[in-house]
Amino acid sequence: MGVGVEKNNVKCELIISGGTVLTMTPESEPLPDGAVAVTSGEIVEVGGAADLLGKYRPARVLDAGGGIILPGFVNTHTHLAMTLLRGLADDLPLIEWLEKHIWPTERVLMNAEMVMLGTRLAAAESLQAGVTCVCDMYFHAERVIETVVAAGLRAVVPEAMIDFATPSSATPEDALAVQRDLLERYRSHPLVVPAVAPHSPYTVSAAHLAREAELAEEFGAPLIIHLAETRWEAEKIKSEKGVSPVAYLADLGILSERTVAAHCVHVTEEDLGLLAELEVGVATNPVSNLKLSSGVAPVPQMLELGIKVGFGTDGAASNNTLDLLRDAQLASLLYKGLTGDPTRMQARTIVEMLTIGGAKVLGLSDRIGTLEAGKRADVVCFALDHPRSVPVYDPYSHMAYAARSSDARHVVVDGRVVVQDRALIDTDVDSLLDDVREAATRARELLAT
Ligand SMILES: [Zn+2]
Repeated sequence: MGVGVEKNNVKCELIISGGTVLTMTPESEPLPDGAVAVTSGEIVEVGGAADLLGKYRPARVLDAGGGIILPGFVNTHTHLAMTLLRGLADDLPLIEWLEKHIWPTERVLMNAEMVMLGTRLAAAESLQAGVTCVCDMYFHAERVIETVVAAGLRAVVPEAMIDFATPSSATPEDALAVQRDLLERYRSHPLVVPAVAPHSPYTVSAAHLAREAELAEEFGAPLIIHLAETRWEAEKIKSEKGVSPVAYLADLGILSERTVAAHCVHVTEEDLGLLAELEVGVATNPVSNLKLSSGVAPVPQMLELGIKVGFGTDGAASNNTLDLLRDAQLASLLYKGLTGDPTRMQARTIVEMLTIGGAKVLGLSDRIGTLEAGKRADVVCFALDHPRSVPVYDPYSHMAYAARSSDARHVVVDGRVVVQDRALIDTDVDSLLDDVREAATRARELLAT
């Protein structure tokens, strides 16, 4: 046999073909009639469909049906299990919403079983919306990990720390012990990245924040924190510490290239300089910030400064969905409107932030975020079968302005097909929804007593 590759001679597990491929690699052009070849969960080649189908002998072909094939979306900030609290309390400012509704409800409701149920619901909702990777922040982290792995969803999963008792940790010391255990056990998991997560600068003491930073440093793990979300927080930290929340955390040594800072709404020019210098990743959550009237993060300035920014939905209790595409599309319109400059947050930028931008925020851009050989195969095929889906002159424009998350037709995570023809493969959605309705009935009874 010569060195040339014989036709159909190379085995591979999966070829995704029959659509325009957006690889999201720098300077790349859309690849019409492209394909992605996958083996052992890894992308082995991206190219023309005719070439790849001629070269490889795939065990399976997934036909995108003339749609758009792109990297799965990365939700850089959410609280998966809070899907169970969707619509529980709306139309309130953040602190009242947290202190009077969310935290008291979590204390009585969110045991390990309910966290698993909420996480199952969140995984189903995420995958069906084209989201293949999420960064969670919640409690009972081990149960969250079991649940996302079973669902086939890639996730950064911390056990959250607050200076008061949480549903799974009586004290911050307990949370630290859980975090250390998870960091040791899941450090090389194919789907899960264990992390630490002090809740915020206003709910975790300086001493505990420092412990969290040390632990994250020891394991090279992501540190996830809410930061500068509301004016109330900015004023509180300023009055107590004399500086902004960002400067306060920077002084404590909490901020690094492994930090995922959710929100960063109330930030000064100096704060932005610190976020850029320290290479902090920012998870921006436009829907949640608008709904809670927390404000609007200066995302265009962040991007100009080279700060890593990805989209997050935040929890379904403040969004009220995990529809990341909605956040992205809203952001594009929001900043055009606010700045009076329609050239801000252009279509390609929006798709980049949904994919490789989010992967960079989570420190996962060596594994996911683009479609290229060597990356894990997290791939979404968006259908173009709706009247609003034609014509497509520019696939980035389509994704940023016309697509809906319900167009996510096929979803592949780590090479595993988890959604096919808009249906979850391994989840009985009807029974899942029944379980959630039943749990909500119990929750209502519990809260009434
Ligand atoms: Zn949050």
